[in-house]
Amino acid sequence: MKTVGRVIADPAAPLFHRFDSLAGQHVLIIPHSRIFDFGRGGAAEFDEISSSGDQSRLNGFLDHLAAPLADEDTLDGIVAPAPQSISLNVSSSCNLSCSYCYAARGAFNGAQPEPMSWNTARSAIDALLNGADASAPVTIGFLGGEPFVNRPLVHRCILYAADKGQAKALDVRFSVTTNGTLIRADDIALMRAHRMAVTISIDGGASVQNSQRPSTGRRGVGSFAALAKAVEPLLASPQAGPLFETLVLGELVRARDHRGLALSLFFWRTKEGEELDFLVRAQGRRGPLWLALEAKLAVQNVPPLQLPKSLARELPELRDVWIVTPGGSEARLSDGCIQVPIPKLAERLVQALDGA
Ligand code: SF4
Repeated sequence: MKTVGRVIADPAAPLFHRFDSLAGQHVLIIPHSRIFDFGRGGAAEFDEISSSGDQSRLNGFLDHLAAPLADEDTLDGIVAPAPQSISLNVSSSCNLSCSYCYAARGAFNGAQPEPMSWNTARSAIDALLNGADASAPVTIGFLGGEPFVNRPLVHRCILYAADKGQAKALDVRFSVTTNGTLIRADDIALMRAHRMAVTISIDGGASVQNSQRPSTGRRGVGSFAALAKAVEPLLASPQAGPLFETLVLGELVRARDHRGLALSLFFWRTKEGEELDFLVRAQGRRGPLWLALEAKLAVQNVPPLQLPKSLARELPELRDVWIVTPGGSEARLSDGCIQVPIPKLAERLVQALDGA
């Protein structure tokens, strides 16, 4: 295994935390992440040492108590995995002035005086995509302040990461945490064209939202009306992805019933979070054929999909992955993965079974 970094305990961090419970008295030894129960008299001895001011005596006691066993690694020897997701704090300002804002409207009390630059964002995305594990989704999140104050950067990052992710055969996904008031039609189009989770912060109804989250620089103007107007088109079709999955399912069922194809349909979900929209077992002329189908709303720049590891293990004979899209043209996306527009799905199934 390659060591890519080490977790070093901060010398200023506390070393222990003493606490009692109904079960007795305990100490959490923080650098070792271990909790010990005190036996009879043990707590008094520990308290005497920890309050003596003798740091080397305390360190010796803690080290003795929590020393790793022969077959264990020390905490600072743990391999730090390459990140699989990043959050980009793209904006240093906000169009709202919430009474409780933790971020000083994105400037973080002067720690972030400028919005993020393209060079910084691109470096972070490059580092993420260059080191990510291709067998799991990669996520890029956008935060602020209000991220859509820096809309051009958000859009540029998404298009760049989607392209680069496709070239690297990565499943790149996105998320944004926004106050929702600045969302425009082009943002929604971008969200729909990419796999993007959208979290909108809102405080209760209009009166609570308006009193706690007024618009910046507009005395007495609340934000509820702007929020409601901006998110209405987004809410009008929040289920576009699942709806398309349903359309694909309908198409598969129609192909089975109207073309007499011997298809069995399954889903693949594991408790570890691996999933596949459809697993199809079909009877070809020479034998059974397994297909993995994923429904995607994108039409262009569709990234190839790798089979979930658990599925590849269970069904080693499964090699063909089809990404079904609402339109576009049929295209080979990678070895074993093709894009099939939904109008061609039934015909493509017939061809595959004829050849299988
Ligand atoms: S929307 Fe978020 S960043 Fe903006 S002022 Fe409110 S809490 Fe702060």
